[in-house]
Amino acid sequence: MSRVAVGDFQITLVRAGVYYWDGGAFFGVVPRTLWSRQLPPDERNLVPLAFNCYVIENGEHTVLVETGGGGKMDDRARARMKLPARIEPLPEVIASQGVDPESIDIVINTHLHWDHCGWNTILEGGVARGAFPRATYYTRRREWEHAHERHPRDSVSYIDANYDPLIESGQMKLLDDDGEVVPGVRVHLAPGHNRDMLLVTAASGGQTFCFFSDLVPTTAHLTPTWVAAFDLYPLESIEMKTLWLGRAADENWICGLGHDCEVGFTRVERVEGKHASFQAYG
Ligand SMILES: [Zn+2]
Repeated sequence: MSRVAVGDFQITLVRAGVYYWDGGAFFGVVPRTLWSRQLPPDERNLVPLAFNCYVIENGEHTVLVETGGGGKMDDRARARMKLPARIEPLPEVIASQGVDPESIDIVINTHLHWDHCGWNTILEGGVARGAFPRATYYTRRREWEHAHERHPRDSVSYIDANYDPLIESGQMKLLDDDGEVVPGVRVHLAPGHNRDMLLVTAASGGQTFCFFSDLVPTTAHLTPTWVAAFDLYPLESIEMKTLWLGRAADENWICGLGHDCEVGFTRVERVEGKHASFQAYG
């Protein structure tokens, strides 16, 4: 299922391809004997991960959440992640899902890691231009500032050509606080994966969709303590997962996950008899 209705919103999953990453890094302190049953690794211990993006439409606005990994990586990086020689540009993938990419007027990046904002821009003759010319792009100001701090721990995750040309042109706006981007669509600070990652909710007609981004990258990460090794603040990840998955379970939200290759939309429920543990259903 790649499209659901949530009140007046139509929400479409757009997978901007699949890449492979070290399974150990994706599951942190969880033993391989446990995570490998949920997400079997290949001979290099790599697990498949989708670049999940979502289009939220209500006839008035077309909001794109995340823009995938982009096409700026070199041959070595492509080989390491098992990416194809030609990566289909995101506007083409969106068009193939029956959504006119020209209609997108808002783009939200939950954070600025390359795998979430890569198709913000397209390189033409070495110059990056916005891939969605009509859109205003949003992310959090402190995330953009952190990207420019070039901390040795995570500087490799940031490619300035994905956002700086849009800041310079005025096409990208930096948010200081949580709030509504268009009526019904809100961003919420949820630190853990990094300090300034956002969740996105779309609420209409008593129903809610929530995009969990890297707070819950796959259904294998629904257990709050199953946190990636590269999360900068793992204790906050556990706290935020417990809080937000609890809300999703109690209010029967439809959830989207940052990198799941199989599941585009799911609901979550509490696991009976276990403290703060969740499973997918529906
Ligand atoms: Zn990610």
